[in-house]
Amino acid sequence: MQLVNGRYAVVDLASGDVSEEGLPEDYALSGPKVLDRIDDILRGRDDAIAIGSGVLTASFIPAACAGFLRRLGDSPSAERICPLTGNLGVEMKLSGFDFIVLENAAEEPGYLWVRDGIAEFVPSPGMSERDSWGRTDAVRSEQGDRRIQVISTGPWADEALPTSQLVMNYWGGEDKNGFAAEFGRRNLLAAAFRGMGELELDDPEGHFASSNELQKAHISLLGRSSGLAAFSDAASGDALVQLRHRDVACFGCPFPCRTFYKTAEDPKTMKLENKEPGYLAYDIPAMDRMTALGLSSRDLISVMTKCARHGAEPVSVVDSIASRGSGVDVATVESLLESRGPASAVGRTLPGAFSASFADPESFVHCLSLGLCPRYWARVGFDLGPLSVAVERALGAACQL
Ligand code: SF4
Repeated sequence: MQLVNGRYAVVDLASGDVSEEGLPEDYALSGPKVLDRIDDILRGRDDAIAIGSGVLTASFIPAACAGFLRRLGDSPSAERICPLTGNLGVEMKLSGFDFIVLENAAEEPGYLWVRDGIAEFVPSPGMSERDSWGRTDAVRSEQGDRRIQVISTGPWADEALPTSQLVMNYWGGEDKNGFAAEFGRRNLLAAAFRGMGELELDDPEGHFASSNELQKAHISLLGRSSGLAAFSDAASGDALVQLRHRDVACFGCPFPCRTFYKTAEDPKTMKLENKEPGYLAYDIPAMDRMTALGLSSRDLISVMTKCARHGAEPVSVVDSIASRGSGVDVATVESLLESRGPASAVGRTLPGAFSASFADPESFVHCLSLGLCPRYWARVGFDLGPLSVAVERALGAACQL
């Protein structure tokens, strides 16, 4: 099959049993409808969620980095899908599965470990004592590879708090709809991926050339690249610009929205001396909200770091403090994080969130289910015509985009 693995795994967290299933030959041609297929599979299983990739994930198409988490429920589709950015979606796909279905709950805490066509649940009760950064470090150390891509939870998710957030390789910004709580109530502390797989393409040169054409056409639409400041007014303020160390792109993205801010050492020095020199920020709603609440740039980075380590969603945290009439600062945030709340989930699509990239939620789901970053594609215009050429050259057949 072109561009996909043609199989998925089902992991029963309660028993540890893993089964593998093949996908039909026309799976890749389903384009965004792969999400319907995943939903159908979830529907047939008890209380299951999926971690998946799109048909275009890991292709040469610009910003084809995205994977996603998916659950069923009564809420709108856009609230039941959570993006995976960075290298997570790509690593997930190259691990040999198009998606992983997780069903039931584990009896003791542990993590999902997927690599090179093998998926398993690894019990690891001691890991519960660590925060999200410690959990990521523990998985990488235990499996002996620093490049493992890790979705982790922190202590907030262990109590299945709806205000918890998933942390992607130490950073947060994707999970605004409580997917971390889904992990927590399943005793799932992390999901880790590493893959050396290769994907077949019908016409690799043609696909590469037409993807390059797409990227060239995007240059004039993207504007000047300045990291997160190109996407967020809060990040363009002088104080944060002073802390900017470098911009970091996801797989295949020519216009990064992620900026690493250094607070523990000189931001102008490329070398990282300190073990924890700063934070990679791309959580636009959190940046905007904390700036509006008057936090200084250093405090803002400190709060983002603390929330990520605890696995707590920062907008919910600072809004909960502000709603009590208390001042929001590092100390009040720390106190709330340590006491695990109470905090209320914001319960709405936040301006600047990935799900708000497009004016209509359907386009967000459509773009993400293809494996494309919604933030990037909303900026360049989600024009399916030019995209279809690159896709057809990869698949060797027209695909319903
Ligand atoms: S726009 Fe940002 S989140 Fe999207 S692919 Fe580029 S760097 Fe990643």
